[in-house]
Amino acid sequence: MEHLQNYINGELTDPLSGMWLPNFEPATGALYSRIPASTAADIDTAAEAAARAFPGWSATPAEERSRMLLRIAELIEARLDDLAAAESKDNGKPLWLARSVDIPRAARNFRFFATAILHTSSEAHATDDTAINYTLRQPIGVAGCISPWNLPLYLFTWKIAPALAAGNTVVAKPSEITPMTAYRLSEICIEAGLPPGVLNIVHGTGADVGAAITAHPGIPAISFTGGTQTGATIARTAAPMFKKLSLELGGKNPTIIFADCDFDEMLETVLRSAFSNQGEICLCGSRIFIERALYDRFRDAFTERVRALRVGDPLDDATGQGAIVSEQHMEKVLGYVDLAREEGGNVLCGGERVQVEDRCSEGWFIAPTVIEGLPFSCRTNQEEIFGPVVTLMPFDTEDEVLTMANSTPYGLAASVWTGDVTRAHRVAAQLQSGIIWINCWMLRDLRTPFGGMKQSGVGREGGWEALRFFTEAKNVCIKL
Ligand code: NAD
Repeated sequence: MEHLQNYINGELTDPLSGMWLPNFEPATGALYSRIPASTAADIDTAAEAAARAFPGWSATPAEERSRMLLRIAELIEARLDDLAAAESKDNGKPLWLARSVDIPRAARNFRFFATAILHTSSEAHATDDTAINYTLRQPIGVAGCISPWNLPLYLFTWKIAPALAAGNTVVAKPSEITPMTAYRLSEICIEAGLPPGVLNIVHGTGADVGAAITAHPGIPAISFTGGTQTGATIARTAAPMFKKLSLELGGKNPTIIFADCDFDEMLETVLRSAFSNQGEICLCGSRIFIERALYDRFRDAFTERVRALRVGDPLDDATGQGAIVSEQHMEKVLGYVDLAREEGGNVLCGGERVQVEDRCSEGWFIAPTVIEGLPFSCRTNQEEIFGPVVTLMPFDTEDEVLTMANSTPYGLAASVWTGDVTRAHRVAAQLQSGIIWINCWMLRDLRTPFGGMKQSGVGREGGWEALRFFTEAKNVCIKL
């Protein structure tokens, strides 16, 4: 059984505690590797290594930093098959999805910020004829990056790449539920020749390792993606220490379908936006609002398509829905289906655990689930489920759907389907979401601001927003 190791000061090391945590394959339910049960002592070592590496890395010319990050991107691409297999095994997602989305995007993240850093500039302000101001944007020091299990390497690198590109050194923690590709990334960094201490990857639980990163006085910036409650816990520690904080949190995203949309394209995309990655993407549209004139047609066509989604072995190319990431998460999602029934919902399809045959007979699978007949204000429609469960709700007017769409504490993403461009702009302007897609979903341009409002987060990732987060602005005023 493989034992993963921490990557600290350029070396792979065992946890100081000598303790290990189990790591399971969701598709089979089998224990297949062990990861370090690291503690605050390992974070102390990692933060010291990162602090020692900071003067050298931050003074390295941007072109050289860029070359190093491009080398890492190339190595990720060269190992596409291995990394995709590792991601699929660790998370339960279909292998084809890891191969076509997760791993290519991890390489793109490095490429994007490796090249972005060559094109940055900062501002200058001439103050009449009395002074010239210019702004330095300098790396902060050691950045802490904490990421979740749903898009493991994709989101891990989405933080690490801009932090390193901007000249910071990093102490990073992947989710303990999906540690494998982060471990492979440490092997890649060693192969690429990344100087010791520039990136440190420490494995373990949120309570031990995540909390130690958050509380460490030598880590002045924290970039976190995960659940809203965890974000609040992190903020409670980090805010009084005046750390820079970027929080990318949960969502309960509305999909709004007007009767004048292109039906076929909408149906295809809404199916994806509801169930991609088993619904375990923070951007998935889990509340589907349909203009009443289209409701019956949509419900029938959608439900038929959902029933045809194949739940199966992630290794099988024909699989549409892989395994749920953990037994605990599967129970949580099924608990929400029970709640929906108690709240008066009508389960149109799915709603139960699926037994997949052969090697996956002990795996954690759920049939994609569509529910109707629930009020927008009930718990099922207000709380994040983060699984293959969506609800359908009819609406009559634009005002009504905006009220319902904006009713949750979250504000991450929304998608709107309409053939009326004026209405599209009007609705987009009034939706309380940080990311809005019109007649599409998850069409990403890495330069755009990415993040949520309300309880979906604070701050934005992507493009210059990320580079700004990972730098400190310093104004220099020269009297003429
Ligand atoms: P989580 O909050 O349980 O864990 C996320 C990470 O935080 C993990 O590495 C975990 O070990 C760590 N952690 C846990 N407790 C901690 C603590 N007290 N201090 C510091 N770190 C701690 O989230 P999850 O279950 O891994 O991921 C699912 C959640 O992530 C969902 O709510 C989803 O919407 C959200 N998410 C948001 C985005 C986004 O961009 N907004 C993207 C993906 C996922």
